Amino acid sequence: MICCKECLDLLYDYLEGELDQETTKSLDEHFEDCPPCISFLNTYKSTTALCRETLNQVEIPEAIRDNLLKVIKEQKENN
Ligand SMILES: [Zn+2]
Repeated sequence: MICCKECLDLLYDYLEGELDQETTKSLDEHFEDCPPCISFLNTYKSTTALCRETLNQVEIPEAIRDNLLKVIKEQKENN
């Protein structure tokens, strides 16, 4: 099972379809079980879509990423 950080590191390749089948499956399984990552994925998708339209480039939105890591950390602390 992969952790949230690995998930985020692989997200770009995941969305680009660059990962091998096994890794993609691991991410799929992680997303099924991790609401913060799902919401990040959705935000990321819309952000990158927006980037493509306006700037024709894709960058990991650092602010969103930092924010997600904070949410994950808080969740773990609450559990
Ligand atoms: Zn996660």
